[in-house]
Amino acid sequence: MLDTEAIRKQFPGLDDESHGKPLVYLDTAASAQKPLAVIERMDSFLRHDYGTVHRGLYQRSIASTQSYEDARATVAKFLNAPSVDNIVFTMGCTDAINLVAWSWGRAHLKSGDKILISAMEHHANIVPWQLIGELTGAELIVCPIHDDGSLNMEAFDKLLDSSVKLVSMVHISNALGTINPIKSCIEKAHAVGAKFLVDAAQSTPHIAIDVQDLDCDFLVFSSHKIYGPTGIGALYGKKDVLESMPPWRGGGEMIEKVTFEKTTYAAPPGRFEAGTPPIVEAIGMAAACDWLMDIGFEQIHEKDQELFNYAEEHIQQVPHLTRIGTAPQRSTAISFVMDDAHASDISNILDMEGIAIRAGHHCAQPVMDRFGIPATARISLGIYNNKDDIDRAVAALHKVADLFY
Ligand SMILES: *Cc1c(COP(=O)(O)O)cnc(C)c1O
Repeated sequence: MLDTEAIRKQFPGLDDESHGKPLVYLDTAASAQKPLAVIERMDSFLRHDYGTVHRGLYQRSIASTQSYEDARATVAKFLNAPSVDNIVFTMGCTDAINLVAWSWGRAHLKSGDKILISAMEHHANIVPWQLIGELTGAELIVCPIHDDGSLNMEAFDKLLDSSVKLVSMVHISNALGTINPIKSCIEKAHAVGAKFLVDAAQSTPHIAIDVQDLDCDFLVFSSHKIYGPTGIGALYGKKDVLESMPPWRGGGEMIEKVTFEKTTYAAPPGRFEAGTPPIVEAIGMAAACDWLMDIGFEQIHEKDQELFNYAEEHIQQVPHLTRIGTAPQRSTAISFVMDDAHASDISNILDMEGIAIRAGHHCAQPVMDRFGIPATARISLGIYNNKDDIDRAVAALHKVADLFY
């Protein structure tokens, strides 16, 4: 069993107080705190090893390039990708989806084609497809969800035909906590010849990802949600799919040969990494991957489920509180509303108790519209949370209930 107390000690960001009370951090789905393993790796690299990558012929730059490319190998291992060439460093999940939209989408989509997403997507997996749809004439279609927040598989089957060229879907919903049956969706998409992109922003911190087993064409995630630094993330792409894609940003690093008449481009992944990359952040992200793999996802999953069940059980007992997102397969995030207390009131009152939770639309406004609510309050769990955190949040929610009713 995961030793949560030992894990907590590795997070200096949790030591501080908030409003004079020990901080309870329950907003990991938005962004995770950072362990010493990440902080110290980045600190040490900045102090002792920093140099630019891919250009220098001197020792420092060669070593720095090695560390940067080692980071790519670590990410490949983290996703069980067949090769480092499948891993493109991006600025994050949003940036990775935009890369696929502007490169793959612009090259492969045309009028009459469809892009299929679900009704529980983050804005990052909606807006890029709207933009590329406007440009190419491809139509964005949306698979509905049931009242419990699970994917409507009958509708999915109906919507999926050979006019669908890409399915882009979240693995675990940040707003509802729904875990989608992603593997069977990928199989079905492939059966009609569509490519599949997995938004793994919320699954990568919690479950072991195996892109070869999933057989997805693309998978994207953000470092800052897996306890790494901001400003970096990754795109996994199948080799032939990446090779079929033109560059989307021009500059240094992504070229093979440049003349004023014609420029030829580097092979993937370099083709998609124009400019000096976030070197320190890539190394920090790899430290986070290593740290999670060392702990082991079996242990993480076991602890997640136990704490999630404990949290749900106690949160449900708060009077005037309604859970939003009760799909049979769910994890990680617990969204709710309270009869008269607005989500932002709930968050403000909890903040005064030193408890950080999220209130709002969670960058998923269509999900809120689906449930006819403006916002939810959301508690989301990280590797460092314990029952005491939940008890304090639940006690504060009881206070909210007493205040308003
Ligand atoms: C956070 C999140 C994103 C966007 O990630 P960024 O790091 O903001 O680019 C996309 N999808 C889901 C499900 C998320 O939770």
